[in-house]
Amino acid sequence: MNSILKKDLHAFSRLLGETKDYSLSFLNALDERTTSAVNTIVPKNKLDRKGIGALSALQEFKDRFDSTVVASTGPRYWGYVTGGATPAAIVGDWLATVYDQNTQGVKNQGDISAIVELETIQLLKSLLGLTNAFLGGFVSGATMSNFTCLAVARQWYGKEIGKDFAKEGITEPLPILSATPHSSTVKSLAMLGLGSNNIMKVKILPNNREAIDIDDLKRVIKKLKGKPFILISSAGTVNTVDFDDFKAIVELKKKHCFWWHIDAAFGAFAACSPKYKHLLEGWDLADSITIDCHKWLNVPYESAFFLIKKEHSILQVESFQNSNAPYLGDPLENFNYLNFLPENSRRLKALPVWFTLKAYGKEGYQEIVERSITTANKLGDYIEKSSAFELLAPVRLNTVCFTLKGREEMSEMFLELLNETGKVFMTPTVYRNKKGIRGAFVNWRTQDVDVNIVTKEMTLVLKKIDKL
Ligand SMILES: *Cc1c(COP(=O)(O)O)cnc(C)c1O
Repeated sequence: MNSILKKDLHAFSRLLGETKDYSLSFLNALDERTTSAVNTIVPKNKLDRKGIGALSALQEFKDRFDSTVVASTGPRYWGYVTGGATPAAIVGDWLATVYDQNTQGVKNQGDISAIVELETIQLLKSLLGLTNAFLGGFVSGATMSNFTCLAVARQWYGKEIGKDFAKEGITEPLPILSATPHSSTVKSLAMLGLGSNNIMKVKILPNNREAIDIDDLKRVIKKLKGKPFILISSAGTVNTVDFDDFKAIVELKKKHCFWWHIDAAFGAFAACSPKYKHLLEGWDLADSITIDCHKWLNVPYESAFFLIKKEHSILQVESFQNSNAPYLGDPLENFNYLNFLPENSRRLKALPVWFTLKAYGKEGYQEIVERSITTANKLGDYIEKSSAFELLAPVRLNTVCFTLKGREEMSEMFLELLNETGKVFMTPTVYRNKKGIRGAFVNWRTQDVDVNIVTKEMTLVLKKIDKL
């Protein structure tokens, strides 16, 4: 054994101790850490012959890279849809690394950690009030979840027209209907060979909505003259968190032949609150659902899951079977995740989720979700009352989409200056052809006081640009 490696083997206690201390200093100072950094680092391109050992590597990393680490896991990082990591999720993530399982099956000799994943999926379904009719599994993010679900939808469509696309390749364009698809859905269609240009756009509802117009959907369906199709619907659009009318889609599903996919990356968690779960009524009848865990569930990146109806399991295996590995046995008899999703080798992705669900339960998540919504509304109220800003859409759930009243072209510069303060991070957006700013509230740490800190900074930045 290499001598430095051997030394580290005997120094685990000190190594993990130092890492723990450094982690604590990071977590305890998260409130003060900047939310954006300027890059001044020149990457090195040569690896030394002799290693320096883990402790010195830790020291060098801290010295050179600590300043690049922003407080994206903190309470005022409202850009994109960025969750944090609960204490229990960090424990689970640490242990997933320590255990280093290759999570695939439950009946294999050797690693059977998939049992943890299957239990975790059950707990998630219980949290969200979903039936047992879905098979679920973990992937790296909602993009990969959308990819996985739409891969099975692709195979389903093939079967409907007597083809096996997994074996033969795609022979014709598929009718794919959507109103406000997330960019990752469009990307998934490109990756799947379905063509990102091939979405048949359905109208959205009038009056500042992003939800699908059911009457227009009916018109588009009529034009398809009975052909099967794929419907991609939204449970929480990114700009204004709008939800498609699932009850109406359920009615359509009784009459027409289509695969119903729901992108519920973060909107799914509305189900944790009795006040908001009505937004998802009927979603149980979808064929597939995408849900992120590294957003509102607050586990570390990379974590999301897919739910696909068990009645489609054969199509799922046809899409993902790792067929030139005969020792894996019958894919359905001998359940093994590698036949059900894109990756083969995988870490024990479920563990951080298992820990956080057990630690905080249904009540814990109801509180996080409702508090996120309350704090989003607090920022929304400030904007509504201010003469300098205006909301681009009502605060429907947990995002605030706004601009500078009467001078939206200044919003980019305003946001740059605001993000530069390092006290908050939000992202630019374009909504109904207007330049704006988006803040999304999904972090478990965010409280009213954070909104106060940010609105104070917003006032200061406003003064700055008024002087320009
Ligand atoms: C974030 C998001 C995605 C993509 O998720 P990743 O986890 O970044 O891959 C897809 N759909 C919606 C609605 C999202 O909010």
